[in-house]
Amino acid sequence: MNNLATKAKITWCPGCPNSAILVAFRQAISELVETEKLKFENIVISAGIGCHGKITDYVNVNSFTSLHGRALPVMTGIKCANPKLTVVGFSGDGDSFAEGIGHLVHTARRNSDIKVFLHANQVFALTTGQTTPLSPKGYRSKSTPFGSIEEPFTPLPMLLESGATFLARTYAEDIAGTKKAMIAAITHKGFSFVEIIQPCITFFDTREYFKDRIYSIPENFPVQDKKTVLEFLTAPNEKTPVGIFYNVEKPTFEEQLWS
Ligand code: SF4
Repeated sequence: MNNLATKAKITWCPGCPNSAILVAFRQAISELVETEKLKFENIVISAGIGCHGKITDYVNVNSFTSLHGRALPVMTGIKCANPKLTVVGFSGDGDSFAEGIGHLVHTARRNSDIKVFLHANQVFALTTGQTTPLSPKGYRSKSTPFGSIEEPFTPLPMLLESGATFLARTYAEDIAGTKKAMIAAITHKGFSFVEIIQPCITFFDTREYFKDRIYSIPENFPVQDKKTVLEFLTAPNEKTPVGIFYNVEKPTFEEQLWS
């Protein structure tokens, strides 16, 4: 864990759940290295632009900070050039579902062997609070002062239909749960996507909303049954399930490219 810290000053707002994601990721990497499932020098992380993007400064591994919404093509390039590397990317919901949505769905469709951890805070936080494609209908912000009239995306069903082979959702303040999902995503062969609910405590504080809504799905969830998973993820639900929803093996983009 100590080896993974950098000297960079953490500039997230005090108490921001991004710090919990950082801790979970450092713990996940430490465990994978200690159990010899991963070599420290073989990890590369990338990020787009947003509060999430600062994470590349805070983890002492190879990293590449990309343009807004463009972490995925960078990651695909890294993985294609050297398939031995473990490539992990961080993105925000504005970064992924506004600027970067084309890259997101096509990377999932190709089943590129990269892992994406979404800091889902439903707001453009770095630019001080504008509506994203994940903000709820009616959300009032600097960009929608009378309330958003748009329906939001729901990430996991979209990624399932796009072709992702590993899907999970966690709550950032549950560090153990996030770490567990990160380890499963990193050790999965293929495109892994983890939606991490990360309330922005400064511009869109949803902690009270999620407090009593988060619940874990059972360990025996049918993670290989796409139809059941899709029905579950799209069914009306007042609550917010977390856990690993989908996990199947398919040939990856890179192994087909180099075969
Ligand atoms: Fe976290 Fe929001 Fe502050 Fe960004 S603006 S660091 S997401 S609390």
